[in-house]
Amino acid sequence: MTLVNKQTIDKFVLWRETEGKRIPYDFSIEITERCNNHCRHCYINKDSNDKAALEKEMPLSQIVDIAEEAVSLGTLWCLLTGGEPLLRRDFVDIFIHLKKLGLLVNIFSNAATLTPDHMRLFKSYPPRSIEISVYGVSKATYEHITQTPGSYAKYLKGLQLLEDNKIKYHLKTVIMRSNYHEASAIIKYCRERSKELVRYDPFLCLRYDNDKKNNAIIKRERLSAEEIVALEKRDSGRRAEIKKICEGAKTRSGVGTRVIRCAAGVDSFAISAAGKYQLCQTLKHPATVYNLKKGRLKYAWEVFTPKVRSISSPKGRYLQSCACCLIVNICHCCPAIAYLEEGEMDTAIGYFCDIAHARAMRFGDRKLTQNLIQPKK
Ligand code: SF4
Ligand code: SF4
Repeated sequence: MTLVNKQTIDKFVLWRETEGKRIPYDFSIEITERCNNHCRHCYINKDSNDKAALEKEMPLSQIVDIAEEAVSLGTLWCLLTGGEPLLRRDFVDIFIHLKKLGLLVNIFSNAATLTPDHMRLFKSYPPRSIEISVYGVSKATYEHITQTPGSYAKYLKGLQLLEDNKIKYHLKTVIMRSNYHEASAIIKYCRERSKELVRYDPFLCLRYDNDKKNNAIIKRERLSAEEIVALEKRDSGRRAEIKKICEGAKTRSGVGTRVIRCAAGVDSFAISAAGKYQLCQTLKHPATVYNLKKGRLKYAWEVFTPKVRSISSPKGRYLQSCACCLIVNICHCCPAIAYLEEGEMDTAIGYFCDIAHARAMRFGDRKLTQNLIQPKK
């Protein structure tokens, strides 16, 4: 029998006790930069045996320290990500430690290295969810993207293991030039096979290590604004979401001079593969990163983060573009993305600006795109 208890949110004890307080409900942690695949679009992957990446990895004790302090600050769940987190030899120990702290644990994986031992682990200590990326519905497309022969069969085997053992998972995808021809089939496959909300993302960000050769590949994999809008036009859910945001934008007056205008550091934070504290996984500007060797997480959360969130921009070009942009909420340009593209947080990035404008023209109102200066291409 299923008991359904309908309560309004203000009746939840957790809500009552945390209302008005600033609490880091969740954090993500990159436990490795290494990966068994070599995906074309990836912003982080290093080879499975990359020596420098291995040396950089946080030891188990450091991960546990961070998690313990996070729990003392009120954290409820965390995300283990990478690279491919399952490549860590001590993955099982990391996972069990986090679970024993009472955390709900999400895992991002490509499923290729899942084993029957992982199934036994997940039956004893269920993860909150496992999110698996699907790059194609054919071996040719999948392996063209992963650039790893044999990866398609391994990923399918991993999915089958999860299904056979009734371990909950979600499928998601990244749509890019190399799988655009299969986009509809991939999204359909994800929806049918994981029976839960599927996330698809056509927004490729550049690499954290700023590797020029790989960045050039990522740029070639990016879809044009027209292709992205065409994809979204076929998706009623996405269409409705963008339309709703555009409706709200009509009464906005821009976002002001603050550079960070999203939820980064509001109720979550991230830890990089090198053990540095960040407001979100992508935000790498040195002024926004805190070295946890110099101080505690509590300081990073309570003192450092509000200071970073209050950084404002004096740049005229920024103040006349993103800062007063009515369509900022349908734009994927943000300080993290801008820093990876141009080395500065307060700048509009032409590619993302074009996409936002195309979305507003197609799903919103042409008037929303007026009064903006064109960013540097
Ligand atoms: S990636 Fe950009 S928009 Fe997303 S949380 Fe980070 S800074 Fe904010
Ligand atoms: S990049 Fe363009 S669309 Fe995006 S917030 Fe800035 S001005 Fe607006």
